[in-house]
Amino acid sequence: ADLPLRPELVGDEPYGAPQLDVPVCLNVNENPYPPSDAIRREMADAILAASGRIDRYPDREASALRAALAGYLGHGLTSANVWAANGSNEVMTHILGAFGGPGRRCLTFTPTYSMYPEYARNTHTDYVTVPRRADYTLDAGLVLDAVAAHDPTVVLITTPNNPTGTSTPVAVIEEVLAGTDAIVVVDEAYQEFSRTPDDTALSLLANHGNLVVSRTMSKAFALAGGRVGYLAAASAIVDACRIVRLPYHLSAQTQAIAEVALAHAEEMLAKVDLLRGVRDDLAVRLPALGFDVVPSDANFVLFGRFADRHAAWRTLLDQGVLVRETGPAGYLRVSAGTPQEMAAFYAALEGVRADG
Ligand code: PMP
Repeated sequence: ADLPLRPELVGDEPYGAPQLDVPVCLNVNENPYPPSDAIRREMADAILAASGRIDRYPDREASALRAALAGYLGHGLTSANVWAANGSNEVMTHILGAFGGPGRRCLTFTPTYSMYPEYARNTHTDYVTVPRRADYTLDAGLVLDAVAAHDPTVVLITTPNNPTGTSTPVAVIEEVLAGTDAIVVVDEAYQEFSRTPDDTALSLLANHGNLVVSRTMSKAFALAGGRVGYLAAASAIVDACRIVRLPYHLSAQTQAIAEVALAHAEEMLAKVDLLRGVRDDLAVRLPALGFDVVPSDANFVLFGRFADRHAAWRTLLDQGVLVRETGPAGYLRVSAGTPQEMAAFYAALEGVRADG
């Protein structure tokens, strides 16, 4: 009680989804398919090789990893246009560390990813939100009106959005960029699962020095445990991130594992089509069972409505199925899992009804 804690942290709890030991975890939008034995062995060999010089600091610039990420993204990007960190969580912290800060504002559009206010708080950046339209979409008018009203230095647009799964077309992002000089961060954490994966803000980078496209290896790449997120942007933005990062922020093991994953990108991404199918199946089966579903381009679906969503969440959990209690009132979010996990989810759902 006597600790000189920052006043804005007093009473705060560490934030995060419950990590419960249950048979079926469909709560944090992971890819449920681990890498093959051959890739795992290669990762182990890469760590063994790196450990031969583990007495030394790792490559502070993560040069090989950034070059591999640039190669994966294409669009003429080079390692100078790519920055990597421990999850896109840390990437966003670097962006706000460089372009937010005291007296500055980050603007985003709700409902959206629940970690953003934490990054803002930790970097002393004001966090301002404006509601999306009733169907959770965004148009350039809504975004630019909000920019005019709040004068942010960072505008954050999540597409596909978490927790709704809603995409914002590149044409809208382009219109937004035409109307603001703020840093526009497009969080494409789930882009590979989109029904239109090539409709990506990466295509706008060549013409917009204030655009940042954030990605992660945690979802489509099935590397959530490896903790690698990254961004693509003009080299001046990457250089700003290099100023605020902690020294040697990416461990030698992290870099080694991620490089192996990228060398086998096709195989690591092999289950994306399957998971898209599971997502599309949810969009058909849940309405047939009387649930409302929000159209999704991600590997999860928001469904409802429940008069008491916590009771519905609990009923599923009691049957060993963990989903996420998040998003608009009355809704739950379920991630696309394996066929066995989905069978368990649909079976558990028999004990749950929508309330209209
Ligand atoms: N952005 C969005 C929209 C997310 O949903 C998530 C993870 N749930 C992240 C970023 C962070 O992912 P990571 O730190 O694992 O890269």
